[in-house]
Amino acid sequence: MMDSICEKYNDVLAKIKTACGKAGRNPNEVMLVAVSKTVGVEEISKAIECGCIHFGENRVQDLLLKKAIFRDKAHFHMIGHLQTNKVRSIIGKTELIHSVDSMRLLEEIQHRAAAAGIVQDILIQVDVSGEETKFGASYEEMQEMITANEKNENVRIKGLMTMAPYTEDPEKVRWVFRKLKALQVDTRTKTFYNTNMEYTSMGMSNDFEVAVEEGADIVRVGSAIFHETH
Ligand SMILES: *Cc1c(COP(=O)(O)O)cnc(C)c1O
Repeated sequence: MMDSICEKYNDVLAKIKTACGKAGRNPNEVMLVAVSKTVGVEEISKAIECGCIHFGENRVQDLLLKKAIFRDKAHFHMIGHLQTNKVRSIIGKTELIHSVDSMRLLEEIQHRAAAAGIVQDILIQVDVSGEETKFGASYEEMQEMITANEKNENVRIKGLMTMAPYTEDPEKVRWVFRKLKALQVDTRTKTFYNTNMEYTSMGMSNDFEVAVEEGADIVRVGSAIFHETH
């Protein structure tokens, strides 16, 4: 029988708790972002009824539509690749942009946030594995962005995000999570204006337990909540 969204959501929470237990962490420190990019209003409503408040979207248009419907009942995170020409429409409409992976995008966010008179929270997406050629800043680019952001009064860097390469065996990508955590900890020891390395956003349906064991502060889980049955 197909489990309900509520059962699956609670199952993910239970697994986060178990992973925290293994790592000696407090489960309250882990934020679960339910990735709702493939589902509609009905599924999101069900998740909200079970207590979920953070949702992740990878398209600007979908995020804006859903945000307009749910307003203050839910927070929407932008987790997908963001084109510079879409920045203007999303500024101030999202809790956190997880996917800032270039200087150009960073500067556009500063420009549009300043025009809107707000401060936008972001994460830098880092390509830790070097295998994912698509998106993500290199280590050097990450450092350049953090330094450049010292002059950006309207952008607050709140941490780092990564996507591990897909694998059947999450143990194979444990090192990716460990490395992102090390980058966060390392950067936290230095002081930069407009940067506060609070979060690592890492771990998806197939690998979030390993990510939590390695110190994930935010996990982005979609199919395990909205699709998979077990
Ligand atoms: C789709 C997506 C997720 C969630 O993936 P699942 O495997 O469905 O949990 C997480 N992060 C990003 C950036 C995504 O695009």
